[in-house]
Amino acid sequence: MVKETKFYDALEVDPSCSDAELKKAYRKLALKYHPDKTGGATSERFQEISHAYDILSDANKRGIYDQYGEAGLSGEGGPGGMGGGLSPEDLFSHFFGGGGGGRSGRPSGPRRGKDVAHGLKVSLEDLYKGKTTKLALQKNVICEHCEGRGGKEGAVKSCSTCHGQGYRVTLRQMGPMMQQIQQPCPDCRGEGEIINAKDKCKFCNGRKVSQVRKVLEVHIDRGMKDGRKIVFSGEGDQAPGTVPGDVVIVLEQREHERFKRSGDDLFYDAKIDLVTALAGGKIQIPHLDDRVLLVEILPGEVIKPGELKAVMGQGMPTERHHDFGNLYIQFEIEFPASNWTDLAKIEQLRTIFPAAAQLPAPAKGAIVEEVSLTEMDPRQKARAEQGHMGGDDDEEGGHPGVQCAQQ
Ligand SMILES: [Zn+2]
Ligand SMILES: [Zn+2]
Repeated sequence: MVKETKFYDALEVDPSCSDAELKKAYRKLALKYHPDKTGGATSERFQEISHAYDILSDANKRGIYDQYGEAGLSGEGGPGGMGGGLSPEDLFSHFFGGGGGGRSGRPSGPRRGKDVAHGLKVSLEDLYKGKTTKLALQKNVICEHCEGRGGKEGAVKSCSTCHGQGYRVTLRQMGPMMQQIQQPCPDCRGEGEIINAKDKCKFCNGRKVSQVRKVLEVHIDRGMKDGRKIVFSGEGDQAPGTVPGDVVIVLEQREHERFKRSGDDLFYDAKIDLVTALAGGKIQIPHLDDRVLLVEILPGEVIKPGELKAVMGQGMPTERHHDFGNLYIQFEIEFPASNWTDLAKIEQLRTIFPAAAQLPAPAKGAIVEEVSLTEMDPRQKARAEQGHMGGDDDEEGGHPGVQCAQQ
């Protein structure tokens, strides 16, 4: 199947050998032919072994070598090239862990699984008081019946087509260039190994993992904010040969019907009637715990529409400092209903409030014309509001820059 066997011969292995067998062969031969052992200069044989292992231990290069031979690896436009090769000594010390130059592109430790993020919706009450909540997740764990092998001991064979890599690298001529294409191995369907159907683990059906329900206890601390991440280290999916990633819970604060939150501060819209705004009174604000805040507006304080007042220390707890933000109350004033008909009472108002401002005298020569106010229907109202918001910018408003440019 392979084009040539020179490198395999150098390592005294069969072209169908697995990565592990390759490693073993290199170890044996490298120790045997290392200059320290043979006493003296780097032997030709040692160089040969090292070069062969350098190529064959790299899945890409091995794939190319198998299909195109040594010629596929060298020369211009050859994929992978021979550039990054290590000197026999470096390779040796890297292999046996004696320091030396690292081999770029090869991960040193086991692969790390993906981190999984889950959103957790929480109420503002929960973030105010703190809460422990349980969250159930489905996750993959190593099958305990086959210990992650996928089948009976010894029944799992490394795929000989892809040498256990799960993929094959092929070359395609693209004009003057060779393009390298990586495809899943058709024989093992990308698994890198083959298990006979009858030897497959019955519990995981050869998948090596099974799905379990895992309940995580999430501690929501007082004062945590929207977007806060709570990390469960190593609780991600398990897979053979990998370190599981983390499960990350991301808090999502629900909208609250009474309060808006900004950092550690709370905002509350209070509607009060005109008489309370002018003459004082009390309002009640149910807080996020069991308390109801009773807020007193002092007589004569005169709350204006949209005015903002603070209640210090009644905001959210701060997560770290065991302190509290502030509560800001924005007031909306409810005026008496339109068409208030009790003229006698209206006249009384004139005796209570400071006198209304006198009209200024019209400019000399101005013609005074009396007009009346009209209730608008909703359509008129909408159109009027749109105009008021600055409808000037569209069609009716001129484009000052255009005229200059037209000469
Ligand atoms: Zn199993
Ligand atoms: Zn395969």
